[in-house]
Amino acid sequence: PAILPNEPSNETLQEWDRVHQLHPWASMDDWQGYDNMLVDCAEGIYLWDGDGKRFIDGPGGMWCVQIGYGRGEMADAIAAQVRKLAYTSPFTNTTQPSAVLARKLAEMAPGDLNNVFFTTGGSTAVDTALRTMHFMNNRLGRPEKKIVISREKAYHGSTYLAHSVTGKEREKSRFDIEKRLVRFLPDVNPYNRPEGMSVEAWCDEKVADLEKIIAEVGADRIGAFIAEPILSSGGVIVPPPGYHKRTFDICKAHDILYISDEVVTGFGRLGHWFASEDVFGIQPDMITTAKGLTSGYLPLGACIIADHVLERCASPDDPTLFSNGYTYSAHPVSCVAALTNIEIFEREGILQHVREVTPVFQGRLRALKDRFPLVGDARGMGLLGCVDCKAPNFAAEKRLGQMIDDACEEKGLLVRPFANMAVFSPPLIITAKQIDQMFDILESALEKVSAQVASEGGL
Ligand code: PMP
Repeated sequence: PAILPNEPSNETLQEWDRVHQLHPWASMDDWQGYDNMLVDCAEGIYLWDGDGKRFIDGPGGMWCVQIGYGRGEMADAIAAQVRKLAYTSPFTNTTQPSAVLARKLAEMAPGDLNNVFFTTGGSTAVDTALRTMHFMNNRLGRPEKKIVISREKAYHGSTYLAHSVTGKEREKSRFDIEKRLVRFLPDVNPYNRPEGMSVEAWCDEKVADLEKIIAEVGADRIGAFIAEPILSSGGVIVPPPGYHKRTFDICKAHDILYISDEVVTGFGRLGHWFASEDVFGIQPDMITTAKGLTSGYLPLGACIIADHVLERCASPDDPTLFSNGYTYSAHPVSCVAALTNIEIFEREGILQHVREVTPVFQGRLRALKDRFPLVGDARGMGLLGCVDCKAPNFAAEKRLGQMIDDACEEKGLLVRPFANMAVFSPPLIITAKQIDQMFDILESALEKVSAQVASEGGL
C-alpha cells in the first residue's frame, strides 16, 4: 500500500490518542500511560506502523481478518452498496444483502439452525442468544428456568449479559455483574490436569462437573449452557476429545439450550464454516458468530437460532414482541461485506487452504515445547495457537507474553500477549512459507526472552 506521511504527525496523533481516546480493557490507574501502536495501513498478512515498519499480523487483527487486508473486491463492493443504499431500518424493512446473507448463513449452519438474527458484533449476538432463552422459557411458563452455565476463562463479550457469563478475569471485574443467574464450571484445560491423570480421566471429571452442577441447581432452573468450542481469549484452550459431545448430550437430556459461541471458531479458523458440527459433532440450539463473518472489514454479528427454539418462542394466543434489536442490525453495507467475504472464501478455497496449512502451523507450534524449557505448553487447533510460558521463579512471569511480543515486534511480528501467554490467529490466507517465517521470528524471540529470564535466575 502507498505509505504517505501522516498529517498531523505521528507524534501528535499518539499524543491525542493518549489524552483523549479510551481504549478497551485498559487500566483506569494509568489511563494515559499507554503507548498504543499507530497502525497506518495493511495488505495481505502484513501491516505497517506510522514509521513505515512492516509486521506480520500474528493475531489477525483480533482473530478476525480471515481473508487478509486491503482486498480491492471488498472495497468495491462496500463502496457500491454505500452508493446504492447505505442504510435502512431493520425494524420495518429488509434489503437484498441481508436477505441473501440470512439465507446463506442458514445453509452454512448445521441442522435446523435456519433463523438469523443480525447484531452489531459478538457481544450483542451473545446477548440475543441469552435473551432468546429468557423469552422462550417465560413463554413456556417456566420463568425460573433461566440460570446460565458458563465456564472459567470463557470470554463472551462486554455487554452486561455477555460480561456476566464471561469467566475470564471475573473475580477482578469492578462492574456489577449478574450473579444470581450464572454459574461457572471449573477450568477445562487438559494442560492443568493433575500430574499422572490421563486426558480421558480429565474429560470424565469435566463432564462430571456439569452433571454435578445440574444436580445441585436443578435442571428446572437451568436455561442454557454457553460454550466456545475453543476457549480463545482464555488462552486457546482445547477441551479434551469427546468433551463437547458428552456435555451437549447432557444438556439435551435436561432440556437445557446449548449455545455455541463461534465468534472466533467460525468462518474458517478451524477449516470449516462452523466448528460445532464439522469438528465437534454437535448441533447446537443457537450459534453466535461475528468477527470472521466480515473478516473485520465492517462490524457485524449474528445469532443463528434453531427452528425448534423459535417454535417454542411462539404463542399465538398471547402475541408479544421480541423486543431486542439494534439500529445497525442487518446493516446493508456490513451484509455486503459479509457476502463478498464469503464469495472470496469460496472462490479461493480458503477453508481447504486452512486444512492444508494447519499441519505446518501446528507442527511448528508444538515443536516449541521440546525446544524451549520456558514453554510449558504449546497448543491449538486449525490456525489458532497459544504459547503458554512457565517460569515460576521469575518475578515477572505474568509479563512473559508481553516480553515475547516486544521481542517479536523488533523483528517484524505482532503477537497477542495474555499474561504469560502469546496467542496466534493469523489471517487464514497465510502461506506455509509465511507460517515458517512467523515461527522463525517467534523462535528467535523465545531465545532472547529465555536468556533474559535465565539471567534473572528464573529458569
Ligand atoms: N464471544 C467470543 C468467543 C469472543 O472471542 C468475543 C470477542 N473476542 C466476543 C464474543 C465478543 O465479540 P465483540 O467484541 O464483537 O462484541
